[in-house]
Amino acid sequence: MTSRTFSRRSMLQSALAAAAFIPATRSWATTVEPGAVPLPALDGQLLMDPATLAAAAEDFGHIQHRVPWAVLVPGSVQDIVAMVRFARCQGLRIAGSRGIGESHSAFGQAQVEAGIVIDMSALATIHEIGPTSAWVDAGVRWHELLQAALPAGKSPPVLTDYIELSIGGTLSVGGIGGQAFRWGLQVDNVLEMDVVTGEGELVRCSPWQERTLFDSVRAGLGQFGIIVRARVRLVDVPPRARTYIALYNDLSRFLADQRCLIEDGRFDYVEGAVVASGGGWAYQLEVVKYFTPGAEPQDATLLAGLGFQPGTLQVTDGSYFDFANRLAPLVALLQQLGVWEFPHPWLDMFVPAHSAEAFVQEVLSQTTDADMGQGPILLYPFRTSKLTAPFLRAPADTHVFLFSLLRTAIPPTPEKVAELVQKNRAIFDRLTAIGGKLYPVDAVPMSPADWRRHFSPYWWRFDLAKQLFDPARVLTPGQGIF
Ligand SMILES: Cc1cc2nc3c(=O)[nH]c(=O)nc-3n(C[C@H](O)[C@H](O)[C@H](O)COP(=O)(O)OP(=O)(O)OC[C@H]3O[C@@H](n4cnc5c(N)ncnc54)[C@H](O)[C@@H]3O)c2cc1C
Repeated sequence: MTSRTFSRRSMLQSALAAAAFIPATRSWATTVEPGAVPLPALDGQLLMDPATLAAAAEDFGHIQHRVPWAVLVPGSVQDIVAMVRFARCQGLRIAGSRGIGESHSAFGQAQVEAGIVIDMSALATIHEIGPTSAWVDAGVRWHELLQAALPAGKSPPVLTDYIELSIGGTLSVGGIGGQAFRWGLQVDNVLEMDVVTGEGELVRCSPWQERTLFDSVRAGLGQFGIIVRARVRLVDVPPRARTYIALYNDLSRFLADQRCLIEDGRFDYVEGAVVASGGGWAYQLEVVKYFTPGAEPQDATLLAGLGFQPGTLQVTDGSYFDFANRLAPLVALLQQLGVWEFPHPWLDMFVPAHSAEAFVQEVLSQTTDADMGQGPILLYPFRTSKLTAPFLRAPADTHVFLFSLLRTAIPPTPEKVAELVQKNRAIFDRLTAIGGKLYPVDAVPMSPADWRRHFSPYWWRFDLAKQLFDPARVLTPGQGIF
């Protein structure tokens, strides 16, 4: 993750520098000179110094680099309202982001060429932790919410593998993890939101109030509004987690066992991965049972009937928090090695179960260690009956597999990145041919026609929502949908 390279002083200096916007030359001015439009009064700051703009042109992918004109560090929700209205009037584009240089997008999804990036990490207050839900600012990270909720024995029911992502950022895309088979995605577990639409209106929405906006914003890729607050479901969780990891040689049996486990629900978390093994691939099941000390899980009962390779089972116990935060040590190591800053041409796919075995085999047969740069390959199923957000597009099947090639480009050269992005595109075309869908957080070049096909048969609804909530197309141009 890129750390902020600018100083507080440069922030203040630049904030003091700009007072107006000159539409004719599309530039900023230090005084309100003739032809210039004064900037709205802000509780926070509008930053324009080169270091801030360079940081806002970066994300986790390190592939796209679109330099904005300014970064809004909001001091209040009202700042976001004011800046969206201003942008709308001046024909500027806006995107929310986890933070300056801290976007976890892989392909510029949170970037805006010559527009305004809103650093949502500036609004990160946890307003309330209740018995069944938490009311939080969109810039709060899942990690922070979990730390605040766990003392009361509560957790969001579904967590991403990596919990440093922002609540607004994952609600804009989906938010999947190993509990999704039971709970759906994070977008299926948000109860209410405050959203600033592309028209600059602050609207509270839920299944009972402004339902169209609620349904549009969940997994709406930032197209219809900036989520400023969310009421997120909380559930009771036991304090401990037992993790079982075991290897399969047989893909068919691996997929069948995973599907069986998400149907019978004997574990609380079901994931899996493809791992390099003896010049080929093996399949690693990762399942977890939560428990309270004194009521330890019955291993033999839980593992009965599973076809993993004898002698490969590893069982470990830990706290629920350490389980949820399990990637932290690996991420710290990758950061220390500098590999975290390498380009990440990721590919994330939703594959219909009926075609999963053949498709996974086809992709793996064309994938080498060098294509992955030691990045993991995730493979695990969830149930489409749990999905409630219309714009989270999943294939038509009872079970769908998340199949993610989380590549690191090694060497980190433009040539290597171009090669891997091209491979992503070729695999995406095959995925589309078998009725699969992209999980659009990754690095695949998409045309507007690809997006229309992606949202089909709901493209008309997506397009209508844009006309309703962001008719001037102010918001989130990074994906190139409109
Ligand atoms: C290391 C790593 C691990 C990951 N693990 C998982 C995982 O396990 N499961 C999973 O589902 N995903 C995972 N992701 C993908 C991640 O969920 C998406 O990239 C997500 O969009 C990143 O969120 P962010 O908080 O960094 O937001 P950003 O990258 O800053 O923004 C993402 C998108 O949402 C928009 N946006 C951001 N905030 C708001 C807001 N408040 N309102 C409206 N739009 C907004 C942005 O404009 C952009 O289009 C992972 C990514 C990384 C880098």
